[in-house]
Amino acid sequence: MSDPHCVFCRIVTREFPAEILWEDDRVMAILDINPIHYGHALVIPKGHARDLLTLNEDDLRAVMSATQKVARALVQGLGLEGFNIFSNNGKIAGQSVFHFHMHVTPRYPDDNIRFVLQLKTYRNDAMAEYARKIRDHLLPPSP
Ligand code: AMP
Ligand code: ZN
Repeated sequence: MSDPHCVFCRIVTREFPAEILWEDDRVMAILDINPIHYGHALVIPKGHARDLLTLNEDDLRAVMSATQKVARALVQGLGLEGFNIFSNNGKIAGQSVFHFHMHVTPRYPDDNIRFVLQLKTYRNDAMAEYARKIRDHLLPPSP
């Protein structure tokens, strides 16, 4: 499935240009046009899916396998000591292209890239309460 209004779908069909690193029948890996570091790659399912939650499992497996392959190539090709993989899902999380993708970004010593975090601690039984709210949606439905 392809969305004519989606920039990544149009890259997949080669209507828009991209620096393609690798592809197979399900997945394409390209260079990000505005990289965090040079070599920053994006791994994209060829079929359109807005985000992780709407991606079918076969494409998810293919994207994750390709992400490992691309990360290994970045490490070997650019001589990296490490890298980040991440995916923004939803506008509030920073997603700007609404076609699911994994970012693979090189990291370098002292590159000063960090999330600015204020870490919390759980109070009383809040941790168990959060776990319950999430766990309830992971259990198989009762017969
Ligand atoms: P996100 O903000 O997580 O949705 O990431 C979207 C990424 O796509 C950004 O890092 C953009 O720089 C990148 N991007 C947008 N348009 C293109 C394009 N035509 N070719 C390559 N990368 C792109
Ligand atoms: Zn798309």
